[in-house]
Amino acid sequence: MFATLSDRLTSTFKNLKTKGRLSEADIDATVREIRRALLDADVAVSVVREFTGTVRERALSAEVSGALNPAQQVVKIVNEELVSILGGESRGLQLAKVAPTVIMLAGLQGAGKTTLAGKLALSLREKGHTPLLVAADLQRPNAVTQLKVVGERAGVPVFAPHPGVAGEDEVATGDPVGVARAGVETARSRQHDVVIIDTAGRLGVDAELMQQATDIRDATQPDEVLFVIDAMIGQDAVTTAQAFADGVGFTGVVLSKLDGDARGGAALSVARVTGRPILFASTGEKLTDFEAFHPDRMASRILD
Ligand code: GDP
Repeated sequence: MFATLSDRLTSTFKNLKTKGRLSEADIDATVREIRRALLDADVAVSVVREFTGTVRERALSAEVSGALNPAQQVVKIVNEELVSILGGESRGLQLAKVAPTVIMLAGLQGAGKTTLAGKLALSLREKGHTPLLVAADLQRPNAVTQLKVVGERAGVPVFAPHPGVAGEDEVATGDPVGVARAGVETARSRQHDVVIIDTAGRLGVDAELMQQATDIRDATQPDEVLFVIDAMIGQDAVTTAQAFADGVGFTGVVLSKLDGDARGGAALSVARVTGRPILFASTGEKLTDFEAFHPDRMASRILD
């Protein structure tokens, strides 16, 4: 991901390196190339406009001093502004003061929620937590089974509806809100310190999906609502993110499929457009293909 963007920016800066001083025209030419590279990488137009405006202004007013030559100064400014659009400081999960911490996953179908549920569960278990996965995606016939498979691989139990089986796990199969609520209650009574609720996604944003996600949120009062977004969906990323921000609200973003070779820039716009931090990156189908997201490291990777 971002290989093309990275190459384009690197060659833009290479052209600057030969210059002892940068004229306004040099800076304008550079900013134009940065703009084109970002737009070609699918970064949202509004984010590109703001980004290039700030870079231009800072480059024009930069003092030529110290150890950095003019080209290095521009690279430094671009790096700092990239970190800023990616959300600035990185942050980890917000854990509840009183267990269990409730984490709800939201996003479109195929975004990578179920896979992420397993990744998060495994990483929490390895840190000494005792997570419980809750299968509240009752839309897709296979979703519950898929979460059970993922849970088994992560070594983490899964709370799922058991129709017709007497006992405390018995919840109607058609009632995702009931399943989510019962899942949290079960976590509390069995002393799981984190609950991860997988929810249904549709192929596109729709009112029913939003309502269901909102009902689950209201019923379980999550500490974190993580919006999972496929980094390969292109410009739609921004409208989808905005629809979830308005419809359900979320506290953080997870970028999935960052291992893909698509342009991926739209995903880079999500933090800026929604004002929510990117907490994690999902980088493959294996449960260990998962990392904390650090804006500064991502910016360095892009400008490498
Ligand atoms: P959900 O519908 O949101 O629960 O999405 P899934 O977790 O079922 O993922 C949809 C597809 O994407 C599955 O085939 C996953 O194996 C795949 N997938 C999920 N995360 C990643 C990732 O980070 N990289 C890649 N390459 N594939 C992924």
